[in-house]
Amino acid sequence: MKTFYAASHLEHAPGQEFEGGRLTPAVEVPARVERVRAEVERRKLGPILAPEDFGMAPIARVHDAGLVQFLGEASELWHKRYGENAPPAIPSAWPARGLRERPVGDVESRLGTYAFDTATPIVKGTWNAALAAVNIALSGAQAIKGGERAAFALARPPGHHASADLFGGYCYLNNIAIAAQWFVDQGLKPAILDVDYHHGNGTQSIFYNRSDVLYCSLHGDPSFAFPHFLGFADETGAGAGEGANLNLPMAMYTDWSHYAEALALALKRITAFAPDVLLVSLGLDTFEADPISRFKLKREDYLRMGETIAAANLPTLFVFEGGYNLDALAEITVNVLDGFAGG
Ligand SMILES: [Zn+2]
Repeated sequence: MKTFYAASHLEHAPGQEFEGGRLTPAVEVPARVERVRAEVERRKLGPILAPEDFGMAPIARVHDAGLVQFLGEASELWHKRYGENAPPAIPSAWPARGLRERPVGDVESRLGTYAFDTATPIVKGTWNAALAAVNIALSGAQAIKGGERAAFALARPPGHHASADLFGGYCYLNNIAIAAQWFVDQGLKPAILDVDYHHGNGTQSIFYNRSDVLYCSLHGDPSFAFPHFLGFADETGAGAGEGANLNLPMAMYTDWSHYAEALALALKRITAFAPDVLLVSLGLDTFEADPISRFKLKREDYLRMGETIAAANLPTLFVFEGGYNLDALAEITVNVLDGFAGG
């Protein structure tokens, strides 16, 4: 299986996020991808390749032009206002109910307009890293279109929380949604399976009114889990997209026995959709010792996960998302890919 990787993610290292009422050390750190990359090499999963540059056109197919422009200049505007040595850009006010969005205002109003949380800071290297992550996902998609059975897009920052015109949840551009749209534009029918612990609110909202992309997500119930405001079971799609969205929220402390049932249900729906390709939002924060999540999957369960996904018998693009236990992350990530390759 080919892995796509770019070192530019290293420049995106905000170091901290605002969470739980205070600045805390970031959990979405460069070491995540570096450790997975080393494990891919150690277990000889396959070649590690640099991505191609697909330019801005595939991004514009998914994202709002105002968001894209802002992300491209946010760091510069922030430092112009607060100085060269200012901490990472984090919003402090939002156009919530009754207030007016300001997509062309100053850096504070644009931050509040385009960000939906305080956990997704912007630093100088953020934009280049976000662009590289998109190119990594698209390079994986291109490999699949070229006939590969599977590919692994080792993308960072992650993407599934970013909607057409909002960033948040450590995500700036929606890597997997851009890849799915690229498949559509190539005349192929994609389905997305999201196994990250958190609901992929961005991916859901991007395709919510459409019947040409199926989105299925297994995640911690938003009544207690981020992103809190989307991901409930009654969200089944709207308009032409009615029935093309499947949310399977699960209880705290869900273990493999229950998780496997939900995964089987999702794959049954995917098979019925008869897609040409499967894209997997591969988040590993369902692990029992993940520092920010509350599921109970064990190391060996990720081999079963890979085997189960392989049984759907579809060309499959894995796109890296969350997962924050640095001691286990590399092993369980490659367990899924190994399980798939052997399944
Ligand atoms: Zn997550």
